[in-house]
Amino acid sequence: MANVYSTICPGCNFGCGLYVRENGKLEVDFRKSSPANAGKLCRFGMNLPRLYAPVKSMVDGKETTLQEAAKEAAKRLSGSKGSVAFLSFGNITCEEHLAFQKLAESSLYSGVDFEALPKDTYQTLSVGIPYDEIEAAKHIVLFIDPYEQYPLIVRRLLSAKKKGAKITSVWWKDMPLADENIRPADVSKLQLTKDSLVITDFHPLSDVEQIKNVLLLAKNAGARITFLKPFANSTGVYILSKDAKQKSLATLVEDINKGAIKTLFCLESDPVDLIPAETLGKLTNLIVQTGSASAITAKAHVVIAHEPLYKKRGTLINSEGRAQALGGAGTSGLEALGVIAGTKFEFDSLHESVRKALGIAAVDEFTIPKYDRPPYGAIQAAPKPIDTKTALVSIYNPFLWFGLADDNDFVELNLNTARALKLIKGATLKIKSNGSAIEKRFKVAPVQENVLLAGRKFGIEKGMLTPVEISR
Ligand code: SF4
Repeated sequence: MANVYSTICPGCNFGCGLYVRENGKLEVDFRKSSPANAGKLCRFGMNLPRLYAPVKSMVDGKETTLQEAAKEAAKRLSGSKGSVAFLSFGNITCEEHLAFQKLAESSLYSGVDFEALPKDTYQTLSVGIPYDEIEAAKHIVLFIDPYEQYPLIVRRLLSAKKKGAKITSVWWKDMPLADENIRPADVSKLQLTKDSLVITDFHPLSDVEQIKNVLLLAKNAGARITFLKPFANSTGVYILSKDAKQKSLATLVEDINKGAIKTLFCLESDPVDLIPAETLGKLTNLIVQTGSASAITAKAHVVIAHEPLYKKRGTLINSEGRAQALGGAGTSGLEALGVIAGTKFEFDSLHESVRKALGIAAVDEFTIPKYDRPPYGAIQAAPKPIDTKTALVSIYNPFLWFGLADDNDFVELNLNTARALKLIKGATLKIKSNGSAIEKRFKVAPVQENVLLAGRKFGIEKGMLTPVEISR
């Protein structure tokens, strides 16, 4: 008989529920009762089995057991005390995160740049507002591409629109559901009121000055603001780490480059596309604990293979602060962390700490815990003017964050840009950046002139916005 798990899609922090069935191969089924998505899934959710590529515990390329790999990791970590970094983007359960935090002590890197943001904005950045409130808003302002980045929010936006909401999009491309489209460089034209609800996102590649600016715009207008996030339990990890010192990805790269960090422990986080290969190459030890194979497991000196997320026991918290229980029974992730920490992490006591932190007696996916949403104070924002010359803009979506190929090996560009270059249908576009050159197929779309939008990486990117030269 096939094993069926009631689980949550880890493609982003929207918290979509689904079933995963082990039936010789993995299959996905809809879970209509799921409160975040009412059973619907985006393309990533439908393709979820691709994410769960089997992985084996290894030490220096030799297969071993989870216990032995964890013991080896413990040895290497204690041998490099003072030069170790612990990285977790938030793809783990709340219970695992608490254990990881104890292990990481003061060397926890969650990827996002909390350090550069005022402390009184942390709660706003960590927990968003319930999706029902989005549906009831009068004016919604989007600083995201909902279709590409967080697809299940589209249903909520359409429902709000049906109830009379006006939707304004601040993006490089016109959004089909928007009543008003403003380009990011023209953000000064945006008119917010206390009836506006701003939807933006917060992730390891976020430009903090832009984040501060959006926080400031919302504050000045008395508008509400909510942050979506890319990893299954980003919200849970941020809430539970609110008193921990969390360092950013940029700090991690800097620390490795200057030799201050020699050993990196990645818990269910693949930074291969986010940290330059040259920087990763400087590490003496790369230790990876994960439930699925990816580019980072191929590079790691030690791989600790715990169960995939759908088999885990534990709690995830989505962007609106909804706590949801995973339907598995696996705790080998906790077991491995215990071996490394030289202790035994009991699920029940960690789970009790999670409930305490949320102020709830039990995890109930149908009731969102009450969160304080304290107002934040004055913010000094100095956003760099957004380059309006030719730029390649990478639209980070679930496939990109997880390094999975998608059927989008093209760029989108404006009709005038295509005409100016005399591009004809079926031709390719030459894109040059810092000495690298590529040729890509293109699609004409209502994109800002001289901007190329891409939903996958081509290897020439320098962050989310890369200045480029284009030609036929
Ligand atoms: S919207 Fe996010 S959580 Fe929902 S199915 Fe798509 S990737 Fe998964």
